[in-house]
Amino acid sequence: MVQPTEPEFEQALLELTTSLGPFLHTHPEYKKALEIVQIPERIVQFRVTWEDDEGQCRVQRGYRVQYNSALGPYKGGLRLHPSVNLSILKFLGFEQTFKNALTGLSMGGGKGGSDFDPKGKSDAEIRRFCQAFMTELSRHIGKDTDVPAGDIGTGGREVAFMFGQYKKLRNEWVGVLTGKGLTWGGSYIRPEATGYGLIYYVEHMIAKFCPEHTLASPSTLVAISGSGNVAQYTALKVLELGGTVLSLSDSKGSLIVRNPSAGKGITKELVESIQALKLSGGALSTLSLTASTGIEYVPGERPWALLPTVHIALPCATQNEVSGAEAEALVKAGVRIVAEGSNMGCTVQAIEVFEAARKKGGKSSVWYAPGKASNCGGVAVSGLEMAQNSQRLTWTSEEVDAKLKGIMTNCFNICYDAGSKFSGESLAGGELPSLLSGANVAGFIKVAD
Ligand code: GLU
Repeated sequence: MVQPTEPEFEQALLELTTSLGPFLHTHPEYKKALEIVQIPERIVQFRVTWEDDEGQCRVQRGYRVQYNSALGPYKGGLRLHPSVNLSILKFLGFEQTFKNALTGLSMGGGKGGSDFDPKGKSDAEIRRFCQAFMTELSRHIGKDTDVPAGDIGTGGREVAFMFGQYKKLRNEWVGVLTGKGLTWGGSYIRPEATGYGLIYYVEHMIAKFCPEHTLASPSTLVAISGSGNVAQYTALKVLELGGTVLSLSDSKGSLIVRNPSAGKGITKELVESIQALKLSGGALSTLSLTASTGIEYVPGERPWALLPTVHIALPCATQNEVSGAEAEALVKAGVRIVAEGSNMGCTVQAIEVFEAARKKGGKSSVWYAPGKASNCGGVAVSGLEMAQNSQRLTWTSEEVDAKLKGIMTNCFNICYDAGSKFSGESLAGGELPSLLSGANVAGFIKVAD
């Protein structure tokens, strides 16, 4: 089922099939479903031509992978990044299928995007690209067929350009995209949802595993990578609860706090200025930081191996952003919890390091949560946005936040239970179940059934 040039998809498929091994051994009747579920129901590939500010015609590849519609309309984001190819979109659509199942909402899995690079483009160029992209995509999606949303490179502005184009072409207002603005059909808490949901999930991990690292205490040290939507709201939620944020990063380097003891750390004000900076396409290297903040910019590095002490590590940038060596460095720095805000943030080698540390038990054990479980809050609130659009109602931010919390609690519980029952481990030493196995088995069972 794997094409030779699909390393990311191969990695995601291998992770799922390995996790399912012990379950399939005792439940062989599910083997056929595994064979079926790994092939996307449909892949649409298309050409996108758009005009740049010099009046030149530019051409890009566009894609939509409609992976699985067993549980509802295809649902998943649109990634705009030069690295986008079919391997990446197949891995993301495959992961999305099981992630969406873990939300408990009626959503199938899909993913799409383009190799268009929004970096350095003017607003008008981004608008012309988004409109051209939607002109073709609009033939293949619909409010009950396939509902795309944001992902890397696609935020509120891009969703707006695409939504306007769909509405113009079809002459109908329907909730065909999520992540819309609040004044035109969006949901409260959608921009915050992935980051907030990640922290709600992590709070359950802390309560079961290491209550001494409560986020209500500034002595709890949290390393975060990335500086986009997910990283921003993850950091803001940690700060709101009272924890210390040690790092953020972008593709060019990291902001780190090596010595947080003097009450130093990344502040809410700094995160807010990063939000404005990222909206205008700026890099973290351009921030002016005085020595008194205790924050250092390290070019060309991810944060993981730079920090002497870390309790909680939250990769929130992109896939494969924690290597085996960086995982070792985090374990050495005392990390207890690793939970992905990004999709497949950890390499196979990093997961091996964390899972081995979990099995060791004791005070230096580590508990790892895969993105399909810990970052499902984003797509969950997308599902709530679809429900509100269908009802022509807007729920309050308190209502949406309460529902998000409930979804993350339920997701944590089903991962925990499935990990306890189906990971093939005895857990006799009192160690906690693998959330990796739990998420994979629980998500798979829902789709397969
Ligand atoms: N791109 C996000 C994810 O990876 C959100 C998808 C959505 O809201 O449909 O889950």
